Amino acid sequence: MEEKKWKKCPRCGKKYNTYPAISRKDNETKICPKCGNEEALLDFMFLNEKDIPRID
Ligand SMILES: [Zn+2]
Repeated sequence: MEEKKWKKCPRCGKKYNTYPAISRKDNETKICPKCGNEEALLDFMFLNEKDIPRID
């Protein structure tokens, strides 16, 4: 057990001991891989949304 390797994700508040992901919001905050995937997915959806022409 190497507890010093445990990191706390500032996004979800859960502890993780795997390689951290970098938040896409500021490109420096280390978050857990799960949140990294979520942000990547949200980013992906947001980019797709911007490509959709809006009709006002
Ligand atoms: Zn997290």
